[in-house]
Amino acid sequence: MTETNNILIKDTTIISDDIKKSSILIVDDTIQEISSSLTEKDAENVIDGTNKITMPGLINTHSHVAMTLLRGVGDDQSLQTWLNDYIWPKEAKLNDELVYLGSKLAMAEMIKTGTTTFNDMYFYMEETAKAVDESGMRAVLGYGMIDLFDEEKMKSELKVSEQLIKNCHMTCEDRVTVAVAPHAPYTCSEELLIKSKELADKHDLKYHIHVSETKQEVNDISKDKGKTPFEYLNDIGVLSSDTIAAHGVWTTQDEMKILKEKEVSVAHNPSSNMKLASGIAPVNEYLKNDINVSIGTDGVSSNNNLDMFSEMKLTAFLQKVNLLDPRVLPTQDTFNMATKNGANALGLNTGIIEVGKLADIILVDTLVPHMTPVRNALSNIIYSSLGTDVDTVICNGKILLENKELLTINEQEIIQEVNERAFEL
Ligand SMILES: [Zn+2]
Repeated sequence: MTETNNILIKDTTIISDDIKKSSILIVDDTIQEISSSLTEKDAENVIDGTNKITMPGLINTHSHVAMTLLRGVGDDQSLQTWLNDYIWPKEAKLNDELVYLGSKLAMAEMIKTGTTTFNDMYFYMEETAKAVDESGMRAVLGYGMIDLFDEEKMKSELKVSEQLIKNCHMTCEDRVTVAVAPHAPYTCSEELLIKSKELADKHDLKYHIHVSETKQEVNDISKDKGKTPFEYLNDIGVLSSDTIAAHGVWTTQDEMKILKEKEVSVAHNPSSNMKLASGIAPVNEYLKNDINVSIGTDGVSSNNNLDMFSEMKLTAFLQKVNLLDPRVLPTQDTFNMATKNGANALGLNTGIIEVGKLADIILVDTLVPHMTPVRNALSNIIYSSLGTDVDTVICNGKILLENKELLTINEQEIIQEVNERAFEL
């Protein structure tokens, strides 16, 4: 007899492509059955889903999770000043132990606020992979390559990426995959951008890059290359359905056509774009043009937390006020961005509650004042809920959070350690 890990989520309100009352049976890492006739006899572990909203785990498609260590650094500065004077000098002092700690803290925060998958670009990524292994989350990890147009640096950056692929791709029961992640067109040489694409293609990996984040970037690239950032990247042949372009704030109509034709995914980061005053991404236009757009938090020092529930609300509100039209970004569109569009961008079989999908599922408590009454569960999730309403988190069929308690991370220990060591930076 094979040993199986069965979980039944009984009598719950499920939001995915629609809203329904039912029960969910998870066997090992997969959603096996969704039916209101499932009973307690069908599973060893039963979770009572009454008074809970059950939905796919949220997918954060652009993060630098170890930046939790830099929470509160460089508030209220422009992107260039923030990077040059605040962030990069501190990041120069990072080491493997600190990245591990910052990643672990981030995972405690992400699990407690309902994120099951994140797409990260940073340094010492083997350490983040180790934290993913222990926390039970799912992640796409890329080493953030920056050569600042120096040929020797380009070669060494590519080597680090190759090493990460070798050490971490398809590890932790396949919960970790590796992406190739050149930082941005203004920090990477053309050769590095092209060689990164070759490396990604060689191993069939995603290509994660910041593009068109600020007006200054667009001006600089236009002056230097005679074209806009996405036109430039398209002309050097690095855009494809494997591209995850973070930000895409200043995308022109012509660039929109390129994104559609090349099936590029865009990761929208509303908090970061607002805090750094980068601008408002044309999310409604992306959706109207059938461009896959998902949501990210970006790093903590430009947010300053990792709560995807607040990112959903901000995504919707920002489009409504920008277009002076409350009808744009209806709740289901926003919900899809934080769930199945994210899975599409990352090429993962998750982001939706459906038989055969990976069991990445969260339960949100509704018996709190700000969630009462539940007239429309989807409306409450997008506009009323807080990340801290998340009660239960299941990733890859394993319970990571139960009754709001972390099962895989010692929360108080990691908080204490980060408080002791973050100021080394
Ligand atoms: Zn970023």
